[in-house]
Amino acid sequence: MKSILVIGEILVEIMADQTDQSFLEAGSYTGPFASGAPAIFIDQAAKFQVPAAILSAVGDDDFGRLCLTRLAADGVNTNYIKTVQNRATGVAFVRYNSDGSRNFIYHIGNAACGQVTTEDLDGVKWEDLGVFHIMGSSIFTPEMFTLHREALNRIPRDCIISLDPNVRPEILKTSPDLNKLIKELLNKAEILFATEEEMTFLTGTDDVEAALTICFSKGLKAVIVKRGGKGASLFTEERRIDAPGLDVVEIDPTGAGDTFAGAFMAGYLKGWPLEECLTRANTAGASAVGKRGPMEGTIRLEEL
Ligand code: ATP
Ligand code: MG
Repeated sequence: MKSILVIGEILVEIMADQTDQSFLEAGSYTGPFASGAPAIFIDQAAKFQVPAAILSAVGDDDFGRLCLTRLAADGVNTNYIKTVQNRATGVAFVRYNSDGSRNFIYHIGNAACGQVTTEDLDGVKWEDLGVFHIMGSSIFTPEMFTLHREALNRIPRDCIISLDPNVRPEILKTSPDLNKLIKELLNKAEILFATEEEMTFLTGTDDVEAALTICFSKGLKAVIVKRGGKGASLFTEERRIDAPGLDVVEIDPTGAGDTFAGAFMAGYLKGWPLEECLTRANTAGASAVGKRGPMEGTIRLEEL
C-alpha cells in the first residue's frame, strides 16, 4: 500500500493543571506528553494500519526518546526522524481558559524540530507516497515554508494532498508567509479539513455555502468542516454527509482535529467510502478528547 507523509514538529506538551491558570506565575503542570500536531496526525494514521511516516527531528534527550519510542510503538515509520545533537526536543506549554480557548507557548523554531532542511528531503522515498498531508501549524519558520514548497515539487503526480490549516495565532505571528502559502495550497489540495473559523480565514467569507463554492472552484474534492462536540460535516460538490457529535466527556480537546484527520486520511488511502472515512474519523476525534494528553486518545482500528 502507498504511504502517508507529513512534515512537522515532534514535541512534548506540558499542560497547566488548572483552568485559567496563568503563565505569569508558578503553578503545577502535567507532562511531558508526546505531541505535535503532525505527530498526532501520523500516530493516528499508523494506528489505522497504513504505512505512515513523519519527517522531523528530535534532540538527543529523554523528551526526544519519549516521542520516538511512542511513535514507533504505534507503528509510525521513524526513519525520517533525525536526532540532532545541538538542539533540545521541542516543547509546548498549554493552558486552558474557562471560555474554552487555549494559549500556547511554543519552543519549536529554535528546537530540534525546527532544524529539518531541504537536504533531509533527499532521504524520502517519494515514489511510495499516496498522501502528503500538510499541517499549516507546521509552517512555523521561513525554513519550514521552503521545506514544504520543495516537498510539493517532489511528491509524485498522483499523490493526494490533504490540508489542515490548523491556524494558531501564536504561529501566524512568527511565519508571515504562512497566510499566503495556505491559501495557495487550496489550489493543490484534494481534501481540506477546517473549522468554521478556518473556512472564513481561508475564503474570506463567513457564509458556509459561499465558502464551499470557493473551495470547489479551486479543485477541492471534499471539504470536512469540524465542529468539536457537534461532530463534523463532509461536503463534496454533489452532497453533504453529517456525523453527529458523539456523547463523550471532554477531558482534553487538544489533538482532536489531528486525530480526526489522521483517521480520515488513513481510511481515504485505503479506499473506504467517504461515509466510512467520516464516521470513523468522528469516532477517533471523540476518543481523542476523552483522554488527558494530546496524543493519548489516538485509537486502533480494532478498538474503535
Ligand atoms: P485541534 O486543532 O485542537 O486538534 P480542531 O479544532 O481542529 O482540534 P475539533 O473540531 O475540536 O477540531 O475536533 C475534531 C473532531 O473531533 C470533531 O469534528 C469531532 O468529530 C471530534 N470531537 C471533538 N470534540 C469532541 C467532543 N467534545 N465530543 C465528541 N466529539 C468531539
Ligand atoms: Mg485543528
